[in-house]
Amino acid sequence: MIRDIRRPYYRNLLLFFAAVAVGGFLLGYPLPALLVAAFACLLWQLFQQGRLIQWLRNGARSEPPDAGGLWGMVFDHFYSVQRDHRQQVRHYQNVISRIQTSTQALRDGVIQLDRQGALEWWNPAAEALLSLKPLDQGQLLTNLLRDPTFVRFYNKGEMSETVQLENPAFPDRYIDVSMTIYGKGERLLLIRDTTRIKQLEQMRQDFVANASHELKTPLTVLKGYLESILTFGGDLPPALSKGLTNMEAQTQRMDNLVNDLLVLTRLDAEVQHSVRQRVDVGELLEKIAADARELSNDRGHRISVHLESDTALQGDASELHSAISNLVYNAVNYSPDGSDIELKWKASAAGGFIAIHDQGIGIDPRHIPRLTERFYRVDPGRSSARGGTGLGLAIVKHILQHHQARLDIASVPGRGSVFTCCFPAERVLAAAERSDKTA
Ligand code: ADP
Repeated sequence: MIRDIRRPYYRNLLLFFAAVAVGGFLLGYPLPALLVAAFACLLWQLFQQGRLIQWLRNGARSEPPDAGGLWGMVFDHFYSVQRDHRQQVRHYQNVISRIQTSTQALRDGVIQLDRQGALEWWNPAAEALLSLKPLDQGQLLTNLLRDPTFVRFYNKGEMSETVQLENPAFPDRYIDVSMTIYGKGERLLLIRDTTRIKQLEQMRQDFVANASHELKTPLTVLKGYLESILTFGGDLPPALSKGLTNMEAQTQRMDNLVNDLLVLTRLDAEVQHSVRQRVDVGELLEKIAADARELSNDRGHRISVHLESDTALQGDASELHSAISNLVYNAVNYSPDGSDIELKWKASAAGGFIAIHDQGIGIDPRHIPRLTERFYRVDPGRSSARGGTGLGLAIVKHILQHHQARLDIASVPGRGSVFTCCFPAERVLAAAERSDKTA
């Protein structure tokens, strides 16, 4: 902090001129004496200013020039500001070099972009992953990663998302890119090679698809024989008839399971889903409600459809039928006989919402986040008894992802559940523009 020395400074100055005036008066030349003193003062100030400029021009690294009073303070102040500044620069240089050393050791690629999106700096992993050259510095990243999925992700600037791409530098290799925006719009990209994960994922998909296909034929043969044998009905010994009926039920369960696995495999394989039909939601819900009444049969559920909007949905009609019917059949399966099940459709600026309300057994909140996992069941015994495969909600989730939609689940144990499919507003077709948007 700078000491306030104005008072002693002005006092000394005043004393000096008073002494000169008295001396000059005694010698008989008070005015010339004052003028000479003022000129000497000016020269002194100019001399000190010259020293200051010279010292600053030399970088102000050496000790400041020796001086007392005001000029001494000025030199000291400049010196301490310069010293603090140098210390700060040294500190930040250390931090930067530590960060660079650690990011250089990272196995994931790190790329720093400036505000215009041009490459500023990258670590060796990024260089190897994307085959970057020193010449790429200053290039726009979107010129190197031209994949439309990446460009959309980049322009959206959504930091919580990651995007998976085929590596433009090495075909058949895959990368995951996530992005952080900081400062005044600079970006940091984290790039990870996901080829191995992708290969394992592909192996898993192929295995499930092949196993399901291989099981399908023997199951069909088994089912056929069992059905034929069971046509003899009363002619069969009771013990054998019971065993065969049981076998038929279990074969049917396996068949359902294999069919669901095949559906999931097909859904898994389709990353880009291009079917965009006009789906009349009212018609769809009425049809599913009719099928659900048949499923409920003598259990007497009261199944009703409520349309709060005459808008339609843009999507894949057969996939949407499969997703919504899964939810409605679950409502039938997990609700007591004679209870109400409502299928609702409403649309607003926020999007389109198909909700299935039931007054069933409900779900404990701790299970809700895991319900769409494959084979996750709250009560495996009850699910199997109702012919469930544990794959229904996983299928629903995949189908909704194809439609950029999500599944919301709200439930109170013992009171019932609401499963809502939330579609983005772009998928909602107003009655007037239905035919325009239909592909
Ligand atoms: P499942 O074939 O077992 O019905 P799903 O994937 O369709 O498999 O559902 C997963 C689990 O979620 C079910 O086993 C059940 O425990 C629970 N569940 C689904 N829908 C409902 C519902 N409407 N009410 C209560 N529980 C439900």
